[in-house]
Amino acid sequence: MSSTITLTPDKTVQGLLGDPRVERAFQFFEMHVAEITEDHIRLCSIPAPPFGEAARAAYLAERFREHGLSEAGIDEEGNCVALRRGGTLSPLLVVSAHLDTVFPAGTDFSVRREQHRLLAPGIADDGCGLAALIALLRAIESCAIETVGSLLFVGTVGEEGEGNLRGARHLLTGGRWANSVDAFISLDGPGVERITHAALGSRRYRLRLRGAGGHSWGDFGVANPVHALGRAIARLASYPAPLEPRTTFNVGRIEGGASVNVIPREASMDVDLRSVSAGELQRLDAFFRRAAREAADDENSQRRVGDPPLELDLKLIGDRPSGETPPDSPIVRMAEEATRSLGYNPRLDRSSTDSNVAISLGIPAITIGAGGSSGNSHTLDEWYDARGRDIGLKRALLVMLGMVGIK
Ligand SMILES: [Zn+2]
Repeated sequence: MSSTITLTPDKTVQGLLGDPRVERAFQFFEMHVAEITEDHIRLCSIPAPPFGEAARAAYLAERFREHGLSEAGIDEEGNCVALRRGGTLSPLLVVSAHLDTVFPAGTDFSVRREQHRLLAPGIADDGCGLAALIALLRAIESCAIETVGSLLFVGTVGEEGEGNLRGARHLLTGGRWANSVDAFISLDGPGVERITHAALGSRRYRLRLRGAGGHSWGDFGVANPVHALGRAIARLASYPAPLEPRTTFNVGRIEGGASVNVIPREASMDVDLRSVSAGELQRLDAFFRRAAREAADDENSQRRVGDPPLELDLKLIGDRPSGETPPDSPIVRMAEEATRSLGYNPRLDRSSTDSNVAISLGIPAITIGAGGSSGNSHTLDEWYDARGRDIGLKRALLVMLGMVGIK
């Protein structure tokens, strides 16, 4: 990236604000409020459960093609990817939003309107980010903005939960664009002040214990998977998680057993481990895995002679790296300047988003809101209010153009 861009984000943003094409793009956002909302509604009406994003991805690719990106397509993992070529391929900036929602197949995704609110599962997380991708592309195209570097518009799959960032991971490590991305922006959720520059790391496990089972009275002494699970939970619950760097654990789901007088054959639990520090997360992770093993060993050591031991199956179901884009890096400073230039206060933040993957690879990355406001995230009553959406779009446009430069 050129030094003028990297060293003086304030001048870069001021320069952009004085450019008549950028001014027209800003007006585009103000004049097309209703159309952007219509796009938003159409996108969010297409179901996109985890591992079922294909229809929404295809629709997004079609919209990208319609607005000038003729090569828009779907990659091997299911991401919708569209290159807008600048003078040179590099610097290459990814501008992304995630296609998936937390809601399972069969959920009613139809969008309702109540006064200023749009209501639907995933309408804000991340419907507003997807709508922003289309609006940003349309503004850039209709105002004939030519960039120095290039923009890669991406709708990612698998951001939520067990998707485990699979879309962003493939994009940055496995696909055609691996090793050529210079910076990464994720538009995720509403708002105009948040700049997520730090990645909250997490590891998630499903622990399953299996035994012979039997009668609670007649077979007493057979190794009991629920008892072993209880021992593992007690061990984990005693972990001295530090407040600083903030580290947390949660047993979020337990399952097992058939009846009060039956020794269960199986028990399982899902565990979520998090820390802002990669080192602390590793420590907690090692503690939990040892706790699971020792809990099974303890239960097995007390079993009746001759009975089989419990089998332990520990499966990693989520792995999100931690780390951060330094606050003084160009992309963070550009986002701060852009926020201030629009009259808002930038707020640095830490979260778990698609940017985690980029950050863990050393690619400068931030996650920012796409404007507007929302509530009841991750519930069936999720709502989005598009008032002020244009501010979020203007901010994103300034950061994007600031990072790749305009001719
Ligand atoms: Zn999201």
